Amino acid sequence: MGVWFGRSKPLTSSSSSKVPAWSRTLTIVLVVTTLGMFASTALLYWQQERSRQALAVSIRTSGWVAYQAQLELVKSLAALRIATLDPSASEVDNVHLRLAILRSRLPLLYDSEEGRLLPDIENYASLFKRYENLIDDFLDGQHTQNTFEMRGEMERLANELDDLLPPLQTVLQSAIAYNDEIYRREQELANNSAIVPLSLLFLSGGLLIVFLFVQTVRDRNRLLAVQEAEAEAEVVRTNLRALIEAIPAVVIVYDTANRQISFINGFALALINPSPDHPDWQRFMEAAQTVLSTCSQSSGWGSFTFQREDGSIIALRGSCRSVMWERRPQCLFALGDTTQIQDAEYQIMQAAKLSTLGEMASAIAHEINQPLAVIRMAAANARRHLANGEIEPVSAKLARIDEQVERAKRITDQVRRYGRKPSLRSSRFPLSRAIDLAIGFVAEQYRMASIRLNLDLDFSPDAEVEGEQTLFEQVIVNLLLNARDAFEMSDIPEAARAVSISGTSSESDIRLIVEDTAGGIPTEILSDIFEPFTTTKPDDKGTGLGLSLSRSIVRKMSGEIVATNVPGGACFTISLPAPRPLELDRSAA
Ligand code: ADP
Repeated sequence: MGVWFGRSKPLTSSSSSKVPAWSRTLTIVLVVTTLGMFASTALLYWQQERSRQALAVSIRTSGWVAYQAQLELVKSLAALRIATLDPSASEVDNVHLRLAILRSRLPLLYDSEEGRLLPDIENYASLFKRYENLIDDFLDGQHTQNTFEMRGEMERLANELDDLLPPLQTVLQSAIAYNDEIYRREQELANNSAIVPLSLLFLSGGLLIVFLFVQTVRDRNRLLAVQEAEAEAEVVRTNLRALIEAIPAVVIVYDTANRQISFINGFALALINPSPDHPDWQRFMEAAQTVLSTCSQSSGWGSFTFQREDGSIIALRGSCRSVMWERRPQCLFALGDTTQIQDAEYQIMQAAKLSTLGEMASAIAHEINQPLAVIRMAAANARRHLANGEIEPVSAKLARIDEQVERAKRITDQVRRYGRKPSLRSSRFPLSRAIDLAIGFVAEQYRMASIRLNLDLDFSPDAEVEGEQTLFEQVIVNLLLNARDAFEMSDIPEAARAVSISGTSSESDIRLIVEDTAGGIPTEILSDIFEPFTTTKPDDKGTGLGLSLSRSIVRKMSGEIVATNVPGGACFTISLPAPRPLELDRSAA
């Protein structure tokens, strides 16, 4: 059983069910329609109320205007009759006053806002104007007249005004009738005014209910969908958890922000340490992060080893990528235990090395024979000098013997070093030193085959890479011996035999190019050259494993090796990642 750190479980499904576009549009349409209905109902109601009030006020006033005019006519007639009988100054004044009032009332009948509402009033306008002129004439002229004349005038005017009574009566009656009609229409309006707004109100209310119903159904469906999705997600979560626990691989989630492990599966606990607080975990995370430092979506694969507190070394291979875990970005390490595979691989590599050594045995013996021959000669000379009693030259001979012993030791050291079993542990080593040792190992062979070896490294002698040094030396030795074999199988003249090793470095990687002038790789095997058992050499010489093992070694160092043909020869390019500065490693740990 794995260990889940933190409160919330990972792999939480975000159960946001998507609302379809048509449903959202329907909601908007319903809301807008309902609001529109309410607004138009209110507007309509307000307008009707206003016009109803305006109508009622105007119409009542128009009836009043007619009534006032008729009343003033009656009063004027009465005043005229009285003044005709008693033309005293006060009565005449009263006549004047009444007539003036009547004169002011008459234009109101046809020339005022209220008067214009009287039915057919325009037909009477000229008649009323004539009477206005009559009254004006009377009011303007009567001061100059004597009592008798005045009586006559007043009587005449009274008779004339009598004729105004019927039309005014007609106007008043039609105003009263009109008022009745108005009243009826007003009533009707009052009753009907509510019909349209009310039906609109019902309609919008109905729409609102439909809308709410649709919403409720939709919400219910959505809730069901969410519940279903959650149930499904829970099943997926359970299965995924069971899968993570069941797979024979290390699965670890690491929170880089607070540098803590959020999850460890059972296999990882069994492989690294059953206690998540054990220092082995710290060591493991340091090693994992150093190699798989670029924890991103596009992170690649990498291999690394780490040593447990009990001294055992574990080899792992896998990847690290960024995932959302407990709702925040974390690093997911998925790694396979490659300890056994690596052991087996190293055994094959060892066998291949020993086979190379066996192949080179005669050359090595030849190389050792040279200092031995010198030693023998120096010893014979020393003996001869001693026999002759000459002590002085003996010391020089002994110094020569010492020199040659040192030379022989260098050769045996190289053989021993090359034959040593590689360690499982990778570490940093200076690249140029490894290249020097590899060159030293094949130097005699190259001398014997008359091959010039040029070395041009443009990085510092301290430049380091991460890996197992003796294995990397074997890669260079393989490439150099393959070039030598290619020369031997060709008819390239000795003067043209050259191999160059050049090196460049950038911030991110170090590149080594091994190029020869031996004619190039046969094109039919160029694409498969790194596959095991690809060889063009005779059975007793080639195994077809050299380049495949070399690629495996370079890949373990998170690098790559490619082969191409260049004019006149073959070219092998090795790219290795430049190790991160040590301070960074420490801070990442
Ligand atoms: P082996 O050397 O045992 O054949 P390798 O994997 O080292 O196995 O090499 C595979 C084959 O690649 C060689 O047999 C040879 O045909 C070809 N090859 C390797 N290096 C060179 C080279 N520098 N020039 C030409 N051919 C090469």
